[in-house]
Amino acid sequence: MLPRVTILWFKRDLRLFDHAALVAALKTDLPVIPLYIVEPDYWKQPFAARRHWHFIHDCLTELSVDLARLGQPLAVRVGDVVSVLRQFATDYDVTAIYAHEESGTDWTYRRDLAVQSWCRDQGITFHEFPANGVVRRLQNRDSWSGIRNARMAETILPKPATLAPVPGLDPGSMPSKADPLFGAAVPGVTQPGGRRAGVATLTSFLTERGAQYLYRLSAPGPSEKHCSRLSPHLAWGSLSVREVVKATAARRATLGRDDDKSWRRNLSAFQSRLSWRCHFVQKIEDQPAIEFACMHPAFEDMRPKAAPADMYQAWVDGRTGYPFIDACMRALTYDGWLTFRMRAMLVSFASYHLWLDWRQSGHHLAQLFTDFEPGIHYSQLQMQSGVTGINSLRIYNPVKQSLEHDPDGTFIRRWVPELSAVSSGWIHQPWTMDRALQQTAGCVIGQNYPAPIIDHATAVRQARRLLAEARSGEDFRDEARRVYQKLGSRRRPSTGRRAARRTGQRKSAQKPQEQLQLL
Ligand SMILES: Cc1cc2nc3c(=O)[nH]c(=O)nc-3n(C[C@H](O)[C@H](O)[C@H](O)COP(=O)(O)OP(=O)(O)OC[C@H]3O[C@@H](n4cnc5c(N)ncnc54)[C@H](O)[C@@H]3O)c2cc1C
Repeated sequence: MLPRVTILWFKRDLRLFDHAALVAALKTDLPVIPLYIVEPDYWKQPFAARRHWHFIHDCLTELSVDLARLGQPLAVRVGDVVSVLRQFATDYDVTAIYAHEESGTDWTYRRDLAVQSWCRDQGITFHEFPANGVVRRLQNRDSWSGIRNARMAETILPKPATLAPVPGLDPGSMPSKADPLFGAAVPGVTQPGGRRAGVATLTSFLTERGAQYLYRLSAPGPSEKHCSRLSPHLAWGSLSVREVVKATAARRATLGRDDDKSWRRNLSAFQSRLSWRCHFVQKIEDQPAIEFACMHPAFEDMRPKAAPADMYQAWVDGRTGYPFIDACMRALTYDGWLTFRMRAMLVSFASYHLWLDWRQSGHHLAQLFTDFEPGIHYSQLQMQSGVTGINSLRIYNPVKQSLEHDPDGTFIRRWVPELSAVSSGWIHQPWTMDRALQQTAGCVIGQNYPAPIIDHATAVRQARRLLAEARSGEDFRDEARRVYQKLGSRRRPSTGRRAARRTGQRKSAQKPQEQLQLL
């Protein structure tokens, strides 16, 4: 007789704490196979990148040690999920599979359907548990935030004390960070992954770095330190959203009445973002097509699907001739992280100035972001490209952003060394220097550094005209209402402009993400 077991399938939940699927699997009193599957076909998708694997690898390495201490090391397999499960089902009597619900891409959705169907055929139960504030088969958006908040209030599930060893289980071997399976080399560094790094990052943010959160949120250099930097831990699950929500609430509860006003505001703004996180992932759960199709169909054919290659390449290489754009792109390429405002600006430039399709620029960014989270990513891409029909247009002026967020050009000089000897007065628009100044600064435009690839004012005028045309159709408003009903936020985010005034932050950095009224 085959040994009876259950399988705990780790996906984007690489932790042992607050792990509902693991806790449920253990309740069966059968030995649990803790399993991670490296799926070669996933790693061929246009959004996947070796940088993600580096982060996951850190998480799995640590998870494997922790599981071994509990009594049963992690099993790692390479292959498509159904084939891997089929093999386990020949070696063991698998009674059930436990996993978290994944609100991911169309590829992961179809993979999960294939697993469900295989389980049904085999008479194996496939149990899935909510991973965060996202509600599967949500009937009505109006009820969403209540359900999400109730979930966040639930008690954190403890890490199990022991795991019964599974007889004869080969742990397998984990592909290295350098394995060719994961595509092109990482073009820089990756934020360290793993539970311990996640907890340390959370602690330092809540006790120290977060003191200047709102003040430093948008400037690309200082934000590296003062933003939480928890996004990859939340995306790959080395921390649960609930843990972070609870830790933040606990920290708020320790604050005194007067001295800690600014901490209170910082933590409140951070809490709002944790809530936005769930809100955005809910969008892809409710409408998976947002990975491929504009939320509002009026914008579907507005931009050419294949952009002029030189425009796209200049944006990718950080050689557009706009120093702040180029510095942000080069920083992101190297570090795998950029603050929200700068991500939005890069997309705005690609989508409005260069008129690139968000699907093309989006794949490139997904590969660069260590924290790639499909629900946030595709929703934000669409918002920042003006194709949702329910969000106000925000076209960033790259020179204005540069003057506001990097007035003395420190960030630009760090990432665009061609401009290192250009003074602060000229660095934001180096093409306005006369030839003699360019030579003195060792930066001749068109020779050492490109001229602007496009004129800002002309490009924006053209973009506004084409967007207005797309919005002029008879049923534009009806369709927008439908989009809002299905995907729109029901609450005006609370921190808003008052908080911005109190912290001395510029108003626009705090603008609500979504408008309640239809445009
Ligand atoms: C075009 C574009 C693409 C993006 N793609 C991703 C992505 O793939 N993965 C991702 O995690 N974030 C994405 N974001 C949102 C945001 O930029 C990052 O979450 C944030 O910069 C991560 O840094 P942090 O953890 O220090 O954030 P903090 O400011 O410290 O915020 C805390 C957490 O709240 C969540 N959060 C913050 N801002 C947002 C937001 N605007 N919408 C939804 N959730 C938010 C994140 O989980 C973040 O870790 C994208 C933004 C844009 C404009």
